[in-house]
Amino acid sequence: MNYRGRFAPSPSGPLHFGSLVAAMGSYLDARNRQGKWVIRIENIDPPREVTGASGRILRTLESLGFEWDEPVLYQSTRHAAYQDAISDLRNKALLYECCCSRSEIQERGRVGSEGIIYPGTCRTRVKPPTVKGSGRRHALRLITHDQTVAFTDGIRGTLSQNIVREIGDFIIKRADGHFAYQLAVVVDDAYQDITDVVRGADLLTSTPRQIYLQRLLGLSTPSYKHLPLVTDKSGRKLSKQHRSDPINAAAPVVALLAALKFLNQPLPPETPGTVAEFWEWAIAQWNHSLINNKNCTI
Ligand code: GLU
Repeated sequence: MNYRGRFAPSPSGPLHFGSLVAAMGSYLDARNRQGKWVIRIENIDPPREVTGASGRILRTLESLGFEWDEPVLYQSTRHAAYQDAISDLRNKALLYECCCSRSEIQERGRVGSEGIIYPGTCRTRVKPPTVKGSGRRHALRLITHDQTVAFTDGIRGTLSQNIVREIGDFIIKRADGHFAYQLAVVVDDAYQDITDVVRGADLLTSTPRQIYLQRLLGLSTPSYKHLPLVTDKSGRKLSKQHRSDPINAAAPVVALLAALKFLNQPLPPETPGTVAEFWEWAIAQWNHSLINNKNCTI
């Protein structure tokens, strides 16, 4: 199949250095293989969305010389597809309603690598979980089975996870009515025919859940490469919510060179005069096996 890559930012703030690294890694990997590259704005979480952030991210990418091959896909337009996937899982008897509060889960669950492992309280609940007038709403959880999901990451090697033991039945639709990231990302990677996902290592432990869902929904699994995370001096991941500095689009080549250096790629012998010159060099030189497989501080 022809290579199709993507960059999928959440519009929770402006593009910062960590997201530039993810955008660049996915772009170079696609262009080096003469592939297509698309952008998907992951705006399924209105409470975390910052007004104007999508437009700002796209304008910054444009001024950095990124070129996308298709109109941007917004997850806010994809609710019917997520609902169809939910119906499919429901027909397969793989979903149940969960009315546990965060504190109930905390009290009963063990701590896993991704937070508390859901203890399965509502999986076997016999009586309907709603107490009329209690105001508490349900989340939808996926029934997970005792199965190890293994995959080979192009940068990190082979990884495996037993979902039921390490994560537990996970949320597909949240109690506030919003679709869960794990569901939306799987439905849309398939919809956009993505063959190669290149993204930050913060999503490494989400990948087995995504592969698990792909199998249940009969979707194909792309190849994955997880880039080193950019952390600040205290070891915390740079993130839009923590108000990491936005990229300075007024000095695009400087920002691009810093990201290329972070990805441990060869740097041009002379500073490129334009973003086009930068990309010409970076695309031709791209070699993903040079990337560090550890998180790095900037
Ligand atoms: N929307 C996610 C983020 O901005 C990325 C999702 C993905 O690449 O799968 O962190």
